[in-house]
Amino acid sequence: MNSTALERFLRYAAIDTQSDPRSATQPSTGKQKDLCRLLVEELLALGLEDAHMDEHGNVYATVPANTGKRVPVICFCSHVDTAPDYTGTGVKPQIVRGYKGGDIRLKGDPGQVIRVRDNPELADQIGNDIVTSDGTTLLGADDKAGVAEIVAAAQILVENPGIRHGTVKLLFTTDEEIGRGVDKVDLKKLGADFAYTMDGSTAGTIETETFSADRVDIAITGVAMHPGFAKGKMENAIRIAAAIVDRLPKNAAPETTEGKQGFLHPTDISGAMEKARISLIVRDFDDAGLVDKETMLETIVRDVMKDYPGSSYTFKVTEQYRNMKAVLDRNPEIVEYAMEAVRRAGMEPVLGSIRGGTDGSRLSHMGLPCPNIFTGGHAFHSPLEWVSRQDMEKAVATIVELVKIWEERA
Ligand SMILES: [Zn+2]
Repeated sequence: MNSTALERFLRYAAIDTQSDPRSATQPSTGKQKDLCRLLVEELLALGLEDAHMDEHGNVYATVPANTGKRVPVICFCSHVDTAPDYTGTGVKPQIVRGYKGGDIRLKGDPGQVIRVRDNPELADQIGNDIVTSDGTTLLGADDKAGVAEIVAAAQILVENPGIRHGTVKLLFTTDEEIGRGVDKVDLKKLGADFAYTMDGSTAGTIETETFSADRVDIAITGVAMHPGFAKGKMENAIRIAAAIVDRLPKNAAPETTEGKQGFLHPTDISGAMEKARISLIVRDFDDAGLVDKETMLETIVRDVMKDYPGSSYTFKVTEQYRNMKAVLDRNPEIVEYAMEAVRRAGMEPVLGSIRGGTDGSRLSHMGLPCPNIFTGGHAFHSPLEWVSRQDMEKAVATIVELVKIWEERA
């Protein structure tokens, strides 16, 4: 069996595992299980006897401890699905061996060019072997690079009993890209104390913060009547909804913010004279900032409604996920050990934050603290996605060093 992270990655990338937000089942697409089944086979072949897939496609496996010490149980987690944004059918990975610099033109579609201008990280890849798609599909490095790295690391642990470690759990989830990655994960069965998602980007980066995220649904009921007899009486819900959207702050939108700034973002609007609905997402790194934005939003709604005394509205906030930082701060060793592992694997660790969420932000608040470690992949969710063999190997080394550190410090 081929066993390097690269060879595993090429094998996994060729399998279509796109998830589908319109599906109500989990996994949202049956084809995700094709990769899950292959993973179970490969993990069993490595000797991980409990490797199995549950009905939702989640794959669980254990690398048993080989030390007498009491070491916390550490889990490594990646998702098998690829984003709905771009097709993942018929992925044909291409390898640029010994990259010499410059733009990379993709074979299957000459219009698709991975440009140095848009990918400054390419400057660090001279001499490396870079994997891309052929330009007609995404590559799926998000997150099959992470999957390949975890399995490759498990193989190293199994084949090198001299590497001392506690119990290591492996978890592969489905439907992460549509926000349902951990909905059906059985944390009790998993039995881990701490976890790491392998789902980040640039080599050396550890992400310890995500957005806190809510969704807001506003439903407006206007006063409908025949337009010929409407003077002084009609209150058109479409106009009310439009007035609300018009008053959203322009300087707190995704298109005007970056770094640690949050935003309010209308994602859907629909309506008729009688009823209209607006859906928004609200994002902030700080839970108090999230509440501030929602308060501001409801103030706008109330203000607009003053001009429509016959109309009414409902305002519903739904929690989506929370910044993992508060949870990680309670167990600082989780990130400290990850930084040390990155150093031992030959890189300078960089702490980052994600303007989004991960399986880890959900897991952290479900009781399993879980920062995010790099995979080496870049330009996710697009036909210009790429990852280098060398960065995948660095991620494998980071995993191996990390389990060693947990054992040493126990
Ligand atoms: Zn991902």
